[in-house]
Amino acid sequence: MQFFPVFMDLRGQDVLVVGGGVVAERKIRALLSAGARVHVAAKVASAKVQALLADESICSIEPSYEESQLAGKRLVFAATDDTELNHRVFRDAERRGVLANVVDDSAHCRFISPAVVDRSPVLVAISTGGSSPVLARRLRRWIEQLLPHGLGKVARAAAELRAEVKKQLPNGQGRRFWEARMTDANLLRWAGKAPAAILKEMTSLLRHVQPVESPGMVYLVGAGPGNPDLLTLRALDVLGRADVVLHDRLVSNEILDLVRRDAERIYVGKQAGNHHCQQEEIHRIMLEQAALGRTVVRLKGGDAFIFGRGGEELEVLRSAGVPYEVVPGITAATGSAAFAGIPLTHRSHAQALTFVTGHSAAGSLDRPTKIDWAGIAGEGKTAVVYMGIKQAEAIRKGLLDAGISARLPVAMVENGSRDEQRVIVGTVGNIPALAQQASRGSPGLLVIGEVAALAAQLGWFVNPREVKSAA
Ligand code: SAH
Repeated sequence: MQFFPVFMDLRGQDVLVVGGGVVAERKIRALLSAGARVHVAAKVASAKVQALLADESICSIEPSYEESQLAGKRLVFAATDDTELNHRVFRDAERRGVLANVVDDSAHCRFISPAVVDRSPVLVAISTGGSSPVLARRLRRWIEQLLPHGLGKVARAAAELRAEVKKQLPNGQGRRFWEARMTDANLLRWAGKAPAAILKEMTSLLRHVQPVESPGMVYLVGAGPGNPDLLTLRALDVLGRADVVLHDRLVSNEILDLVRRDAERIYVGKQAGNHHCQQEEIHRIMLEQAALGRTVVRLKGGDAFIFGRGGEELEVLRSAGVPYEVVPGITAATGSAAFAGIPLTHRSHAQALTFVTGHSAAGSLDRPTKIDWAGIAGEGKTAVVYMGIKQAEAIRKGLLDAGISARLPVAMVENGSRDEQRVIVGTVGNIPALAQQASRGSPGLLVIGEVAALAAQLGWFVNPREVKSAA
């Protein structure tokens, strides 16, 4: 983020504008409507600029720019057609710690002024960071159409009632009251009404609300394979309302950015070798947070019910009597396959599909081999192995022992659906060579079956030629 967004209270504050043409006029007009005291330095000031500055108690005008005019100013705009002069203003301002903006010259801007959709007190500011003013204006038109004109009235009515709601509904219940009432339908309806009518309706809603000790609620949310576009609308809605989010390693930063800004985030990623203890700790935190009456989001990669321990967590919630909702996510297999161009079933290649965890592939004293490779892989079948990259040799051996051809195609999809996605196609015989190419710490899947080879023709994401063949 190149620019830090803020809204400034400029009422009664001194601002300098250098220049007196059309561009300066636009800035002066906007500054005056924000209540600023505007001082102008301009060799020539247009008649319109002079008219704007008529009120001498808040405005002044000088025939030329001097550095001393920066004293006591909060901001300065340089809007002359003399580039040298504009840059001098910028340098002077930098030295004095006054924030400067040379209009249309982003390299000489300590701040920029956004395109604005004004539904005061609601303001939407749009910036492309100076990269394309035309795009910013286009976006502004979109948002203009989207936001009802009466939105300001709704905001003012809500402001009038806010303190009362807080008093009657303490401890976050107030926020939940507003969340439940600020629905799309209500907003559209209220926007078309007179201010008094809006206030009356809101007041009556408040009168009918029962202040209850609301029990906490846990949402078990699947975040998908990492690309935020793959979240469900329900997941997005729930993330925006969370009081606290418990997330693990597979949840990408782009998705965490969508969590309500004031929500507490607790990382509960598991460390290898410490699963059991960690899981108990997650249960403890979940119950503790719910008991505080909070809206808890348990956010998991993919889908919580596919190798996600979602079932165990629900059992704990159920026996503690905590209400819950499950929001499905796109699981890594379907998300990665889609982004790799691998149809997991295909009339000519596969009529059955199995998701299996590679954990049990190696087999050990306490976990003997359980995978029935002959049953799930081979002709007419697709097997997708989660958590299998580290078990590559055991998987190869298991498949060959079950009589499956060493030439059967296998694809490794790493970071499926994310910008860093890689797809490497090989065969059962060289699964270990495939796994060796995996990047440390990145999630990866093995797709075993004829369909895996289709990635080379059907891959579409980023650059289909990224599909590589294992040596
Ligand atoms: N509940 C998750 C799976 C958790 S198990 C889901 O439904 O997707 C973790 C395994 O998922 C990883 O070892 C890896 O095999 C797979 N995985 C998760 N995200 C992935 C991604 N973006 N690309 C490839 N594999 C992924």
